[in-house]
Amino acid sequence: MAVMNQNYCNLKESYLFSQIAAKVNAFVEKHREKKVIRMGIGDVTLPLAPSVVAAMQKAVAEMGVKDTFKGYGPEQGYAFLRQALVKYYDNQGIGLAADEIFVSDGAKSDCGNITDLFDNVNTILVPDPVYPVYVDTNIMCGRKIVYVDGLPENNFLPMPDYAINADVIYLCSPNNPTGAAYTKEQLQAWVDYALSKDAVILYDAAYEAFVTDPDIPRSIFCVEGAKTCAIELCSLSKTAGFTGTRCGYTVVPHDLKRKAGNGADMSLNKMWLRRQTTKFNGVPYIIQRGAEAVFSTQGQAECQEMLDYYRENARIMMKTLAQKNIRFFGGVYSPYIWLQCPEGMGSWEFFDYLLEKLAIVGTPGAGFGKRGEGYLRLTAFGSREATIEAMSRIEEKL
Ligand SMILES: *Cc1c(COP(=O)(O)O)cnc(C)c1O
Repeated sequence: MAVMNQNYCNLKESYLFSQIAAKVNAFVEKHREKKVIRMGIGDVTLPLAPSVVAAMQKAVAEMGVKDTFKGYGPEQGYAFLRQALVKYYDNQGIGLAADEIFVSDGAKSDCGNITDLFDNVNTILVPDPVYPVYVDTNIMCGRKIVYVDGLPENNFLPMPDYAINADVIYLCSPNNPTGAAYTKEQLQAWVDYALSKDAVILYDAAYEAFVTDPDIPRSIFCVEGAKTCAIELCSLSKTAGFTGTRCGYTVVPHDLKRKAGNGADMSLNKMWLRRQTTKFNGVPYIIQRGAEAVFSTQGQAECQEMLDYYRENARIMMKTLAQKNIRFFGGVYSPYIWLQCPEGMGSWEFFDYLLEKLAIVGTPGAGFGKRGEGYLRLTAFGSREATIEAMSRIEEKL
């Protein structure tokens, strides 16, 4: 008899995006004349950079020629891409070996799959509000989850509480949904906490490329001691428009070691290599060639130009919100603006209000955790025209 994983019963129904879609569809049915502006789902809209497209086209041609055809590749990624990533980190003053980098089909898979390395007895620490994948993947293994609160008082950057004994810690900076980003000193405090608890930090850096301020780290490995307590998860999705193309990478340092319950020395790098070579067969060659182009000088310039477009959208949004005296967070190091619902409205209440009155779609903050209630996330991933139109509606009618 197949006994089911009963932990799935403990998952909350994922109402968020389906409920948003249902409400938006009903609104569109009723008001066909109104132009709905979608600032809800965190997906990019600009196409891939020209050098990325060219690299992938070249790779497609290679696949059609006997001498350059590729079958199975290395599960952990081709050397050309891992070397390009070594150089990318080196430019930030972070020294990594190529075999500390594992190429993957995106950060979401790795966020979930990395749970394979840890026993289910671990207590998982998750900031609230945050990307829902951290919570759900751990509920699926029946783990205990504790929360640290993101609040306006701490600028949605919760700091460690030594009274909490956490074993695995998720951090996301710049943050989805709040857009908040930790300083180097704040990350140092988290690393110190993790070291004192012998815990491991899973650092989600999906938005690192949005950071331009040299005082805001783009990698946790610029913090002293991080290589002995942290894994970094990265993605080309938001930084190079790869949401549909699928490529990311995870850094597991050689210095990251822990003891198993039976006293055995465990290298997390070796464990992850074994896990990936067993359960994953690598990212397509064509996609990895496209990813390599992202990290070329030309590719970086093109991608930063793309991010500049989104940054300008965010500036336009922040200007309007400031004028309207609406309190908000984020928008500077991330494509997300996290705003406090005006007049004490709840997340869904304000969502409905924006949709009905202004035909603008946001994401209710309550969907990202208990502490998200009373907030709403807007994204800067739309077109310039739509962003300007949405802000003029807010200016005139809110
Ligand atoms: C979008 C996102 C991801 C997922 O990225 P993929 O590489 O597309 O799977 C991971 N973490 C956060 C915080 C995100 O917002």
